[in-house]
Amino acid sequence: MGDVIRFKKANPKERLKEKAKAVTLCRHGHHKWTIDPKKQFDVKSGKLVTLYRCQRCDTTKTTLT
Ligand SMILES: [Zn+2]
Repeated sequence: MGDVIRFKKANPKERLKEKAKAVTLCRHGHHKWTIDPKKQFDVKSGKLVTLYRCQRCDTTKTTLT
C-alpha cells in the first residue's frame, strides 16, 4: 500500500483575492480577533492580560483582565 498524497486544488489567484479582501478589512479596523490562551500575562507590566490575535493579519492587542 503506497501513500496517497492528495493535493488541494487551490486557485492561487482566488486565494490572493481573498487575502487582499481580508487585509482591506483589517486596514479598516475590522480584525478577526481570537484569544490566544497561551499568552495571558504581560511581563512588562506584570499583570494578567488577554491577548487577542487577528486570524488574518496576525496583529495582536492586549486588554487588561
Ligand atoms: Zn487583522
